[in-house]
Amino acid sequence: LIVLEHVNKHFGPLHVLQDVSLTVSRGEVVVVIGPSGSGKSTLCRAINRLEPIDGGTITFDGRPLPAEGKALARLRSEVGMVFQSFNLFAHKTILQNVMLGPVKVRKEKPDSVRERAMSLLDRVGIASQADKYPAQLSGGQQQRVAIARALAMQPKALLFDEPTSALDPEMVGEVLDVMTSLAKDGMTMVVVTHEMGFARHAADRVVFMADGQLVEESTPVDFFENPKSERARDFLSKIL
Ligand code: ATP
Ligand code: MG
Repeated sequence: LIVLEHVNKHFGPLHVLQDVSLTVSRGEVVVVIGPSGSGKSTLCRAINRLEPIDGGTITFDGRPLPAEGKALARLRSEVGMVFQSFNLFAHKTILQNVMLGPVKVRKEKPDSVRERAMSLLDRVGIASQADKYPAQLSGGQQQRVAIARALAMQPKALLFDEPTSALDPEMVGEVLDVMTSLAKDGMTMVVVTHEMGFARHAADRVVFMADGQLVEESTPVDFFENPKSERARDFLSKIL
């Protein structure tokens, strides 16, 4: 579904993505881990073209990423993104936040969107909070709303960039539970996270990045039991 071939990206003199090649199949869950500054967020952002690349190719669903216009808007609706900071609209209710994309961007009828939005809020366990405002919810609840909002666009893939890093520890589990359930349902997911438990249990594949390079790519069992590279061993020894 997502194919990156020899992707390169510079920020001035900094070579943040160095010849990165990665294929994510339909229904696959790929967890990206690696030290701070290794290029994980940039990789994620490149996949829905929040960040243009300066070498190589990225295709989504068989087509090169469009640079602009309607095709780009469509790509962004097909590739949902969930960030560390939930970015909900503070002056809209939870339900309105979830309905906004389909109604404003996709011009869908509010009545059918409302029904879908409510069932998604139910799915993430927030249906009873639909008429509240984001500030009235906990961080974990807000992040679950952000996931429902991404799902409301009926994406073909979801990208998560450290979705639990800004949460109080007691709220991490409820968000990971929602993500695990999406993974089990066959959603294609690329997940940048430091949650090694999630990587072990939910990932089909673990990708380890360091200094802009994709250093290692393996099954979770292989990666955690038997990391091949010195960098990965070093990283794991620091965080486990
Ligand atoms: P973290 O774990 O801290 O989130 P990361 O692996 O997500 O790190 P990136 O955010 O992709 O890393 O950044 C990779 C490198 O690119 C870092 O050195 C960062 O400072 C740099 N960088 C990121 N965005 C920009 C930008 N817009 N302009 C210049 N440099 C940038
Ligand atoms: Mg990052």
